[in-house]
Amino acid sequence: MERWGEKRYHSLDYALRSQFGEKVYKIALNGGMTCPNRDGTIGDRGCIFCSPMGSGDFAGSSADSISDQLKRGKYDLSTKRPIHSYIAYFQAFTNTYGSISHLEKIYLEAVSDPEVKVLSIATRPDCLGPEVLALLSKIRKIKPVWIELGLQTIHEKTAKDIRRGYPLSIFEQAVQNLHARQIPVIVHTILYLPGETPEMMLQTIDYLNHCPIQGIKLQLLHVLKGTDLAIQYQQHPFHIPEQDEYIRMVGSCLSHLRPDIVIHRVTGDGPSDLMIAPLWSQKKRTVLNELHAYLKSQDIWQGKEYSNL
Ligand code: SF4
Repeated sequence: MERWGEKRYHSLDYALRSQFGEKVYKIALNGGMTCPNRDGTIGDRGCIFCSPMGSGDFAGSSADSISDQLKRGKYDLSTKRPIHSYIAYFQAFTNTYGSISHLEKIYLEAVSDPEVKVLSIATRPDCLGPEVLALLSKIRKIKPVWIELGLQTIHEKTAKDIRRGYPLSIFEQAVQNLHARQIPVIVHTILYLPGETPEMMLQTIDYLNHCPIQGIKLQLLHVLKGTDLAIQYQQHPFHIPEQDEYIRMVGSCLSHLRPDIVIHRVTGDGPSDLMIAPLWSQKKRTVLNELHAYLKSQDIWQGKEYSNL
């Protein structure tokens, strides 16, 4: 069995400690952008699960400069312990969807902070044109750059139902373009999208095993107030897993995943004031403890059932 410190999976914390020699903390930033799936370019209501803050509910305020958002994030994090290393994480909305001059300004502002060790950018694969790729190649010569892509699922019907707004082929091209530029890719997936079976979720995992990606987020579907998903849930309730079922599913995903892929998330961080379901996910520490106990009791580790054939 492979081991990554105390964990049975290749956790982000383990990967960062191995690379930087200490714990590295994330500061969620708001670069003041919108999203083509919200401004009418592709759609005007966004993905059905996306919160009014563009899935950046813990990000800073776009009214503040990036330096000020970093300063505030550091202050909030460092009151309890001394911290020297951060990831500047552009989280809210689509963070490559802006003029090149604006993107260059905010990215440079972030990486110029000596305590920022990594620039992480959440975006859509259809917002990575040649100029953006050239800019990312330039910034990665200053500090490591990660790109986080919201795939959610490989299944086209589900993608249509959740209004993702691009086909799988666009994702594949973006991953190849980033890989060619040696820019690590983290893929955001959502478990228990309406209509998805365990087999379908594992098909997404198996597909990603064959992609040149470096990280993955396994995100539990959250039904949040103010989303079209919440309306759908109220009108036609769909299956929401109980905690035990979710933990078994995550165990299965980890067991099938390529062992080098870094696990950035195994549950979710929904804002409590917006959360409709599942409410058990609010106790994140409990979910993680239960997951770790389950992996141990079932002798599961990341890659146990992975096969590269
Ligand atoms: S692409 Fe991201 S920001 Fe845009 S609507 Fe979907 S989840 Fe929200």
